[in-house]
Amino acid sequence: MITVKTKKEIQRMSNACNIAALALKTAGEHCEIGMTTLELDNIINKLIVSTGAKPSFLGYAGFPASACISINDEVIHGIPSKRKLSSGDIVGVDVGAYYDDFHGDNAYTFSVGDIDSEVDKLLDVTKKSLFEGIRMAVVGNRIGDISNAIQMCVEKNGFSIVEEYVGHGIGKKLHEMPQIPNFGLSGKGPRLIEGMTIAIEPMVNIGSRIVKVDKDSWTVRTSDGKFSAHFENTIAITADGPVILTKV
Ligand code: MG
Repeated sequence: MITVKTKKEIQRMSNACNIAALALKTAGEHCEIGMTTLELDNIINKLIVSTGAKPSFLGYAGFPASACISINDEVIHGIPSKRKLSSGDIVGVDVGAYYDDFHGDNAYTFSVGDIDSEVDKLLDVTKKSLFEGIRMAVVGNRIGDISNAIQMCVEKNGFSIVEEYVGHGIGKKLHEMPQIPNFGLSGKGPRLIEGMTIAIEPMVNIGSRIVKVDKDSWTVRTSDGKFSAHFENTIAITADGPVILTKV
C-alpha cells in the first residue's frame, strides 16, 4: 500500500530528513585520509542521538551500526570497521534518522584525496542521474518516468545500473511501497500523486552491473571489483513539484 502524507505530516517528516542530512554532511567533512569507517559511524551516531532522533539503520534487520559505509567496489550496506580511508578511495555513506514518528534517508559518495578521473566521472554521473530522476517526480507522472530518466543518464555515459536494490517509499516506515527501480520504462508503474514521499537512490557501477554479497551477509560489492557509487535523497511529491526533504 502506498501511504500519502498530509502537508503537516510532510512538515514533521522534514525534521527527520534534516537530521539525516546533517549527519551525512558532517560525515562527509570527516572523510579524510587515515579516518576509519567506525570513527565516521560514531560521529554519525553521536550527532543523530544529540538531536533526540534515532539512527534508522541501527538494529534494522540486525544491522550493527548507525550508517552503511561502503568503500570503492562496495556498492551498499558496508559495515563500519577499523578500515582506514586512503587517498583515491570513494566512500558511500548512507544514513537514516527517525524522529517524531518519521524517517529520513539519504546517501552520498565522498572522495578521499586524489581520485582517478574515471571514478570522478562515476560520481558526477551518479549524482546527476539522481537529480534527473527527481526532476521527473511530479504529480501525474509514473514511477517508470523516474526510473527511465535515471537509466538513460547512466547508460549514455557508459556506466551500469545495479538492479537488485532499488529506491522506496518512506514515512513512518523506513521502507514503504512503492519500489523505485533505477531502470525501467517511461509511462509504466504507479502514478505519482501529491503527498507521496519517496527515497530515490541510484547505485551505479563503472563495470559490470552484477553484484555479490559478502560472507557478512550485508556488504554488497561489484563482481568485477570495479568502483560503484550511490547517491540518495528523500523527496516529497507536491503540487509545486518535487521537494528535496533531506537538506541541511
Ligand atoms: Mg534508502
